[in-house]
Amino acid sequence: MAVERTLSIIKPDATRRNLTGAINAKFEEAGLRIVAQRRIRLARADAESFYDVHRARPFFGSLCDFMTSGPVVVQVLEGESAVARNRDIMGATDPAKAAPGTIRKLFAESIEANSVHGSDSAENAAREIAFFFAGLDIVG
Ligand code: ATP
Ligand code: MG
Repeated sequence: MAVERTLSIIKPDATRRNLTGAINAKFEEAGLRIVAQRRIRLARADAESFYDVHRARPFFGSLCDFMTSGPVVVQVLEGESAVARNRDIMGATDPAKAAPGTIRKLFAESIEANSVHGSDSAENAAREIAFFFAGLDIVG
């Protein structure tokens, strides 16, 4: 196993319900370290660019509306196998299918308003981290 970094986003449904600390506790309890973190409001163009891979999907417009509907917390998580570990902690995209104890099972409102984003590969993690953070912003 190797120490990796992954990009996490606490989504607007979670910031609206004041769940940033509760979600961060799940990451830290699982051994991931929050090595960079910033609370921001995404512009429409930012959301469209970040989710460009989903541009052709039927939910793209609604997803971008949702992601710009309130503040998000963008963060870099670091730890052993951080990409896969974070996906485990998050649970399945659809909270109805997420395993007990996962963030989405505990907190998500719907398949769209599902509280967190996590990179799905090391390659995408590097690209997504660079989308939001400069190297000097990340303190391991
Ligand atoms: P994320 O990329 O946010 O970590 P994911 O990798 O589990 O989640 P993706 O398939 O990449 O899921 O979809 C990106 C996001 O688009 C989902 O997290 C969710 O917010 C939204 N989404 C996915 N599928 C649907 C759907 N069928 N209807 C509405 N929204 C959806
Ligand atoms: Mg994804």
